[in-house]
Amino acid sequence: MNGLDLVVTQTHRRVVLSDGYLWAWVSGHEPACNRADREPHPPCTEVLVSLSVLCSAAENQP
Ligand SMILES: [Zn+2]
Repeated sequence: MNGLDLVVTQTHRRVVLSDGYLWAWVSGHEPACNRADREPHPPCTEVLVSLSVLCSAAENQP
């Protein structure tokens, strides 16, 4: 999967167990949102992601 770029600002504490996987809501901004000189604002995007995806993304950080 290579589809979603998101600047995560918050990971919600509530996780959901579904299909044998843990999922969590995260809030953040799409890159296009931050590109312009905008005032800081509350997260404009919220997505449900698998925790395994979050972990692998964290491991890939430099
Ligand atoms: Zn935004």
